[in-house]
Amino acid sequence: MTAAQTLIRGRLLSFLRSPEGLDDTASYDYCGDGALLVEGGIIIAVGPYAEVSAQAGAEVAEIDHRPHLILPGLIDCHVHFPQMQVIGSYAANLLEWLNAYTFPEECRFVESAHAARIATKFFDELLRNGTTTAAAFCSVHKTSADAFFAESLKRGTRMIAGKVMMDRNAPQGLLDTPQSGYDETRAVIAEWHGKGRNHVAITPRFAITSTPEQMTMAGALAREFPDLHIQTHLSENHDEIAYTGSLYPDAADYTDIYAHYGLLGPKTLLGHAIHLSEREADAISDAGAIAVHCPTSNLFLGSGLFPLKAFQRRSKPLRIAVATDIGGGSSYSMLKTMDEAYKIQQLLGERLNPLESFYHMTLGNAEALALSDRIGTLAVGSDADFVVLDAAATPAMALRMETVKTLAEELFLLQTLGDDRSTVETYVAGRRSKPRETASQLPEEQEAR
Ligand SMILES: [Zn+2]
Repeated sequence: MTAAQTLIRGRLLSFLRSPEGLDDTASYDYCGDGALLVEGGIIIAVGPYAEVSAQAGAEVAEIDHRPHLILPGLIDCHVHFPQMQVIGSYAANLLEWLNAYTFPEECRFVESAHAARIATKFFDELLRNGTTTAAAFCSVHKTSADAFFAESLKRGTRMIAGKVMMDRNAPQGLLDTPQSGYDETRAVIAEWHGKGRNHVAITPRFAITSTPEQMTMAGALAREFPDLHIQTHLSENHDEIAYTGSLYPDAADYTDIYAHYGLLGPKTLLGHAIHLSEREADAISDAGAIAVHCPTSNLFLGSGLFPLKAFQRRSKPLRIAVATDIGGGSSYSMLKTMDEAYKIQQLLGERLNPLESFYHMTLGNAEALALSDRIGTLAVGSDADFVVLDAAATPAMALRMETVKTLAEELFLLQTLGDDRSTVETYVAGRRSKPRETASQLPEEQEAR
């Protein structure tokens, strides 16, 4: 018998806003012996264990995760699900990496059986790493979007994804046309948007692989479906920027291309956005669009150092999200992602403290996606998506934990040495969802106290 409610006990941590410094204790809620009461996939009570357990009904299953931390599920704001089999491909730079490895690999997603197999693996890998929501690029083929959303529906996850639109500068097997890209995106929206917790995004890959005619059609979709996210790439690499300029000679700059076609707004996710002029940064800020920082990818492909702190300090600050960018990125883990983000700021002479990092992985990314009413939080009424983290998951981490004295130190250890091994459990809509080979790690579950 399945209990109607689940009571999940542990140390609760959730952010209320962006932390202003390491001593900004008002930016988060922390409860050393807390509990979440979940029913129907929603958090119905949260707070100290003694108070929350008193509110539970008779039909409750209790799971004790002490001494581990429970946070809102991690969020990845830019990732390519058809690139699982090109991670770690040896290339000099972005354009070589795309042409030599990534485009040929994405051609395989015309086959629905292949797309379905990789979608299963992709969700396994995200959930193994505690990531419960992602903004994902599929391939150009509608089959890939169908496979992605079907898997998401099966898992019950809140996901954003789109069929990629691209009609030039790629192999024939990866090209749509302005009309078919428009029609198939509309078909994906009709079939999947709002089904379960799925969100469809309008997804022109980037200006290099779309003709002006296709950009016009993408802009038409943005006008017809103003609530949808738009995701694309911007200013990742100097050669890419120069090539883009040659393809759109009338545009003031790269950002201006997206603005011109009506694709720059408050739900636009701009992957990378590293090398921006002041004019471009102003335009992005004015539009309320989001610069999505992908640190492991930027280092792996040698693309550049994202000036996160400088972007936040501007008189017109940028909204910033963080992401893995698999398969240009080299880890599915948002912990590893923020470890590399920290190092990039170090190289720029800036500090990124661990409270900020964990804010970005959770509430910060939820705000960037305009979904903070549902995810990135442990507030009553929001989706019951959580990650349970163990900062002593490996022998080396356990040894270091002996000297850790504060919550911030524990978070920084998790970020620096943690990965999927630190994810004890992942909850999707209140259900235990971390894939595992054995059940030996499961803590005791007591049905109907
Ligand atoms: Zn990307």
